[in-house]
Amino acid sequence: AVAVVLFTRDLRVHDNPALASGCRTASRVVPLFVRDPAVPSSPGRDRFLAESLADLRDSLRRRGGDLVIRHGDPVAETMRVAGEVGARHVVSAADVSAYARRRERRLATACAGERTSLTVTPGVTVVAPDALKPYRVFTPYHRAWLALPWRRLESAPRTVSLPDAPLRSVDLPVPVSGGSPSPFPGGETAGRRRLSGWLSTVDRYADDHDDLAGDRTSRLSPYLHFGCLSPLDVAAKAGGGPGAEAFVRQLCWRDFYQQLLYSFPALPSVALRASAPDDWRDRDDALEAWRAGRTGVPIVDAGMRQLAREGWMHNRARLITASFLTRYLGLDWRAGAAHFARLLLDADVASNNGNWQWVAGTGTDTKPYRRFNPIRQAGRFDPAGDYVRRHVPELTAVAGRDVHQPWLLPERVRSGLDYPVPLAGVAPASWM
Ligand code: FAD
Repeated sequence: AVAVVLFTRDLRVHDNPALASGCRTASRVVPLFVRDPAVPSSPGRDRFLAESLADLRDSLRRRGGDLVIRHGDPVAETMRVAGEVGARHVVSAADVSAYARRRERRLATACAGERTSLTVTPGVTVVAPDALKPYRVFTPYHRAWLALPWRRLESAPRTVSLPDAPLRSVDLPVPVSGGSPSPFPGGETAGRRRLSGWLSTVDRYADDHDDLAGDRTSRLSPYLHFGCLSPLDVAAKAGGGPGAEAFVRQLCWRDFYQQLLYSFPALPSVALRASAPDDWRDRDDALEAWRAGRTGVPIVDAGMRQLAREGWMHNRARLITASFLTRYLGLDWRAGAAHFARLLLDADVASNNGNWQWVAGTGTDTKPYRRFNPIRQAGRFDPAGDYVRRHVPELTAVAGRDVHQPWLLPERVRSGLDYPVPLAGVAPASWM
């Protein structure tokens, strides 16, 4: 029997339930990835995806298989490939967004029409999004999540045997070559390497994860988003101890937002809390300055510049910049989320919009009035000012924590800096 294994955001061979299931049930397997033009891309994500596909293809070739890549509608292409090789079986991983679930339903209908069986496996979260009743508050979700048994990890298949029929594959998208090498090389091999390095320092995570300049979080988010790493495998390998527990709790936050999107498909556009105010200001100048990292508030600008340069931002900086946009500038969280979605390598419909709603007070935060005072946050999480100086070169000459409030510097120093005054409408005095 022949099976088509449709890869989506599970671009790995280790602990890949869809691939394992295909190899178990069929003697011949066609691993397929379809580049869907309807899925939003960015130059950074295109590069990461191309590298991940190249790595996956190499892993499959080492096992005797290959990766077939096509462009177009994933359902139509899957059925076309199944027809070309006479496959009567299709396997793919379940996913959570409205778009992915519609794709799965369409695939089920198409398979039924061709008398082909469809197996949908878990694999994009630690626990399945419907394993628990829908939760809107994290703490009880976390408690219930910790009590659930985990599925068994799947080992990578030893061999992957292709059918004899010749298979057409399009060229891999060409990676965009930047100047310096990316801090995030795509693919399972790079992800596993980063994971094993990271696990040797996980003990310090509970103490260090908010240190902006120390930059001591795992930086695994793009690998988890594209499924170069299995979240379950990452959680299982983390082990015990306070550092590991704090880290696994973050993986639970990830699952939390995935189940939230699953049960509330309008999450990207509609406030989760119906009673939340929806009277955002309309200020293009402020939105533009925020995007460009030119608000005049150094800790905010540092985060926004890190995003533009690396396609990634430290979680603490995401909280500060998002709170600044929504709570201080009064601008709509959807505009902020859209900008993040354009630039982040780990841009994820569930995590991005869920976190934006949390910060904006429209979502799941049990203290929806909370806001992150940028100056106090800077003093706590970048006490020496190193994070700001790393990302805002105009301020490198300002020593120590003075860098956080350039408006307090003597006029002769201030006027020598090519750095804007804080945006009109947000008063530094109110941050003290
Ligand atoms: P670590 O601290 O090492 O955590 C390990 C993993 O846990 C992360 O890789 C991630 O998969 C998960 N995780 C950690 N914190 C969160 C969280 N708050 N919510 C969901 N998952 C979490 N994360 C994304 O993956 N994609 C996004 O598009 C995204 N947008 C965000 C937008 C805002 C406004 C905020 C405040 C947070 C957002 N996050 C998003 C969550 C978090 O900031 C990143 O996951 C984290 O910074 C990634 O760095 P890391 O891998 O070093 O994290």
